[in-house]
Amino acid sequence: MRADIAGAVVDGNALAGLLSDVFAVDVTTVVGTCGGCGATAPLADAVVEIDEVAALVRCRSCTHTLFTALRTGDGVRIVLAAIRGFHVPGAAVTPG
Ligand SMILES: [Zn+2]
Repeated sequence: MRADIAGAVVDGNALAGLLSDVFAVDVTTVVGTCGGCGATAPLADAVVEIDEVAALVRCRSCTHTLFTALRTGDGVRIVLAAIRGFHVPGAAVTPG
C-alpha cells in the first residue's frame, strides 16, 4: 500500500470487523480465482483430495493445487498455493 493513498495506518486489530464477515460465511460459497489458469469458481466446485490429516484443494479447470488445509495439533493450517484470491459474496461492504 502506498503511503499517499492510505487512509490510515493502524495495527491488525482493524481487520476484526472486515474479516469476521469473511470467516463467518459458508466457505463452499466463497469464490476462488486460480493463479494457474484464471478460472473462478465457488470452492464447492473444486476437486478435493482429503484424508484425516489434510485436504488438498485443486482447480477443476487446470488441476493446479489452490491451497492445502492441514489439521495440526492445535488447529488448522492453510497453505496457499496457486490460489490468486478469494471473493466472499454477500460479505458486508461497510467498514466497522
Ligand atoms: Zn486453474
